[in-house]
Amino acid sequence: MNIQSKLPKSDVTIFTVMSKLANEYQAINLGQGFPDFDCDENLRQLVTKHLNDGKNQYCPMAGLYDLRYSISQKMNNSYDTNINPDTQICVTAGATQALFTAIAAFVHSGDEVIIIEPAYDSYTPSILLAGGIPKPYRLVYPDYSIDWNEFEKLVSPRTKMIIINTPHNPTGTILKAADLEALENIVADKDIIVLSDEVYEHLIYDNEAHQSVLRFPKLFEQSLAVYSFGKTFHSTGWKMGYCVGPANLITEFKNVHQWNVFSVNSFVQYALAEHLQDPSTYNQLPAFFQKKRDFLAESLNDTPLLPKLSQGTYFQLYNYEAVSDLDDIDFAKYLTKEIGVAAIPLSPFYTDPPKDKVIRLCFAKKETTLAAAAERLKKL
Ligand code: PMP
Ligand code: GLN
Repeated sequence: MNIQSKLPKSDVTIFTVMSKLANEYQAINLGQGFPDFDCDENLRQLVTKHLNDGKNQYCPMAGLYDLRYSISQKMNNSYDTNINPDTQICVTAGATQALFTAIAAFVHSGDEVIIIEPAYDSYTPSILLAGGIPKPYRLVYPDYSIDWNEFEKLVSPRTKMIIINTPHNPTGTILKAADLEALENIVADKDIIVLSDEVYEHLIYDNEAHQSVLRFPKLFEQSLAVYSFGKTFHSTGWKMGYCVGPANLITEFKNVHQWNVFSVNSFVQYALAEHLQDPSTYNQLPAFFQKKRDFLAESLNDTPLLPKLSQGTYFQLYNYEAVSDLDDIDFAKYLTKEIGVAAIPLSPFYTDPPKDKVIRLCFAKKETTLAAAAERLKKL
């Protein structure tokens, strides 16, 4: 059969490639972003309770009302906003589906979508499948900041969407209030949607506050913000997330969602609705992960790897130019096979990769795991 791929240039994701290699070589996996510790016992008990309690049939299309209500309370407490659980939230099968649905719903053939590279790897294929044209703005190592005057030059009459991501995977940088204000001015009075990937909203360090689009009322009117329970509650395998936005955008989002997934996992929604009612479940995350970030950084002090301190996410970048001339993909493979620690190279996050000698390590691991990885990396 003659198959005409819609994504002819697409490779297997780097996360799958590196995890497979890590398993093959029994390397400690600091590559793909997932915790090696279990999620909260209370949450697991709630899931079990609702599973055994017969919560096993379809939920409403936009998500269980109780969960949408708990989400609205969380957002209102965190971002001083007033989210309506009836009209401004849709529960999704993880953030990836929310991103895909948002792009499918609003990007038409020939529309331009500005992305910020290095960019999470699902954005470009999703844009291409919608017939859109990705327009990358490139962040530069080591500070990876956005020059909004330069950024604005990418905006054209065909720009339909801008995708931002804060805290940012893979660089670990965060946007500040001034960044969001600059963006608000750029999109004001234009038919441009801001798709804001905020899956690491609670993984932010050194007492910084997460600058959600929800904090900026004017910007919010043209934004969709995407979240992941997988990242927040250490349960990446459950694939649960949600999208928040103004009612007119969420109505159109749901118009696509209903033909794609219709509704997502029922008993986990019941459990999350209860678990979310306790703000300490997410408010403790900055301290919890900052300790791990600092533990990894200290453990690697004696190695030639040079850290770029993570301001958010559970990733930290390390410069390896003192030890190798290899490009980042080959170096990540060398680390996995020869040193026994898997990492993620940054090249796959770019259309046209720079030559930076930088890799990403995930510190969402037990201290024993991080210590064991550091022992191996000391061989460098
Ligand atoms: N966006 C970013 C920036 C991510 O790092 C990830 C990975 N968690 C996702 C989206 C996808 O999240 P999920 O696993 O909930 O689909
Ligand atoms: N978000 C995770 C990361 O950046 C991986 C998700 C995936 O494997 N698709 O590592």
